[in-house]
Amino acid sequence: MQQVVTAKQELVEKLRGVRGSVGLVMTMGALHEGHRRLVDAARAECDTVVVSIYVNPLQFAPGEDFDAYPRSLKKDLEMLRDVDIVFAPSDEDMYERSPLITVNPGDVATRYEGRTRPTHFAGVLQVVAKVLNLVRPDKAYFGRKDAQQLALVKTMVADLDMGVDIVGVPIVRDVDGLALSSRNAYLSSEERSAALAIVRALETARAMGSAGPEAAEKALTECLSQADGVDVDYATIVDADTFLGVSSDARYGLAIVAARVGSTRLIDNMEVSFG
Ligand code: AMP
Repeated sequence: MQQVVTAKQELVEKLRGVRGSVGLVMTMGALHEGHRRLVDAARAECDTVVVSIYVNPLQFAPGEDFDAYPRSLKKDLEMLRDVDIVFAPSDEDMYERSPLITVNPGDVATRYEGRTRPTHFAGVLQVVAKVLNLVRPDKAYFGRKDAQQLALVKTMVADLDMGVDIVGVPIVRDVDGLALSSRNAYLSSEERSAALAIVRALETARAMGSAGPEAAEKALTECLSQADGVDVDYATIVDADTFLGVSSDARYGLAIVAARVGSTRLIDNMEVSFG
């Protein structure tokens, strides 16, 4: 039966009595099928499933969409009926004070997403570390939609010996191919059609993979340069683990895109095989 917990102390007490494996899914709410896929993966593999719903102020810079970010706790809880514990803390409970000790996400966090959002990954890793420490799960599930976040979480867990298995879950897309995102709610119907150029460009890059990384990247950027209403932030091919450039003998890479459609910033990615 679903239990909703709003305080850290209560969460820790509830988990103390739990036997068997624990799976954790961290979200910012406004849940959709992409989040649900993470929960399904956790449900299939773990005895107890914990889902956190928390719009983390630390990962939003001033002027970003923290206030506008969609919040729909009641609907979210219905989508999580089969989850054992939903942790939905207040800001006051999550951060009793402004943290004195913080996670430094290193150089990778200054690239791509981190170039446009310089404080983003420090904020993400701070809250991920806190919730991992509170829940102490056996497995934690993250979407490959946020590929740079996934790479950084894996790196943090390895470098700080956090002893949790980080599972990457494939991207869930809408029928038209657009990657599901809580931010898609901001798009008008014209913007949504324009946004499909992102997934088309990624598919073109994937189709060019056999010609090598350079050809795939060229196809990606050319395709996006012809797209109307899509203002590209970055579009390139990286190593999915390091977010550095792919080596010449790499067999796989990750085509990554961030673009603004209207005032909405979207990110997406697709694995490209060079075989
Ligand atoms: P968010 O609520 O946007 O912070 O996302 C919470 C988790 O859900 C993150 O691990 C995301 O990568 C994952 N996620 C969001 N959208 C998708 C999607 N379309 N497919 C797979 N995972 C997703």
